[in-house]
Amino acid sequence: MANVLIVGAGGVGQVVAHKCAQVEDVFENITLASRTKSKCDKIAAMLPRKINTAEVDADNVKEMVALINKVKPDMVINVALPYQDLHIMDACLETGVHYLDTANYEPPEEAKFEYKWQWAYQEKFEKAGLMALLGSGFDPGVTSVFTAYAKKHHFDRIKTLDIIDCNAGDHGLPFATNFNPEINIREITANGRYWENGEWITTKPLEEKREFDFPAGIGEKDIYLLYHEELESLSKHFPEIERARFWMTFGASYLKHLEVLQNVGMTSIEPVKFQGQEIVPIQFLKALLPDPASLGPLTKGKTCIGNIVHGTKDGEDKVYYVYNICDHQECYKEVKSQAISYTTGVPAMIGAKMMLEGKWMKPGVWNLEQLDPDPFMHDLNQYGLPWQETWLDKPFQ
Ligand code: NDP
Repeated sequence: MANVLIVGAGGVGQVVAHKCAQVEDVFENITLASRTKSKCDKIAAMLPRKINTAEVDADNVKEMVALINKVKPDMVINVALPYQDLHIMDACLETGVHYLDTANYEPPEEAKFEYKWQWAYQEKFEKAGLMALLGSGFDPGVTSVFTAYAKKHHFDRIKTLDIIDCNAGDHGLPFATNFNPEINIREITANGRYWENGEWITTKPLEEKREFDFPAGIGEKDIYLLYHEELESLSKHFPEIERARFWMTFGASYLKHLEVLQNVGMTSIEPVKFQGQEIVPIQFLKALLPDPASLGPLTKGKTCIGNIVHGTKDGEDKVYYVYNICDHQECYKEVKSQAISYTTGVPAMIGAKMMLEGKWMKPGVWNLEQLDPDPFMHDLNQYGLPWQETWLDKPFQ
């Protein structure tokens, strides 16, 4: 039975707190801390059992260390923003507790996410006998486990991998992002990138487009090629993969709004002077847009996120599709959040559970595909993200 400290009380933090609270035999004591304590208290009041709350600026390592020393958790579940990753990892090393996050480090002043900063902690965590689990959300996270599962059970060799993320939910608002707007818009307005024959191919933002016919009645949708962080770790850990790509659906209205905002400079991360004050346009835009956590009651429809894996088994060519369908309103009924926060928060809880139960506990810094996929796949079915698998007639082009 363990004691956990969850950092970040946004859309994802709310789901993690709910899901950990549901699994009392593993998560005996829970503390939820964030920059704004009132958000933690609001979440705590929704839960069926008592948890503790605290205020912390996770960018301040001293403050984090003091909080960890007070709470004495076995591990920290970091669901604040990617900017906090290294500071929280430093605090974990200083206090001797395990670490988990859902998104890789991104420097605030540069829209560039890479694993190199966190992979550089490998030796420090290993020497300290501590584990850091990186990217335990859905994508990265479940998509990483899906790849490991496909390789373990269905393929001798993976040739191509396409991760396809569809949000077919509708919140009825003209423009809103489903998770932190700043992180979301920085990701989408960046160049696309995919892995092919040992090198990275760069595409212009949203340049590559296909159509995909999704299961569960979702039907045909446009999908766009994006760079996504799991491509970096999967191409490293499965060097046999000849081509790895990531795709996401966007509706026409969403793209139109984004284009206009970009054209007028509202998505820029460069500070500008306004009435004697420096403001960062994208941060100002975030203040105007709906809080992703407020979309829960409004969003109807489903998400479908999965992997298409093409490879060989016993000399035979095969195409495998493994995916999860999640319903926004079902999520809201259970944890008062929409499916994007839900599909991230559940795998964060499961990753922590894997570590605390000893199934994945191993000193060092790890991505999910490096660990045994079976217990995690089992728990996805158990804790709200059931997956389905099927074989396709031909590879995805
Ligand atoms: P939100 O913006 O809704 O929440 C972020 C929370 O972190 C807020 O409560 C915020 O506090 C808190 N926070 C920010 N800075 C600090 C700080 N310095 N110290 C303490 N707390 C801080 O984001 P989401 O919940 O949507 O996303 C959380 C994380 O999940 C992000 O890293 C995101 O990239 C990741 N994610 C991962 C996905 C995956 O599939 N792997 C998918 C979706 C998201 P305050 O309210 O005061 O601002």
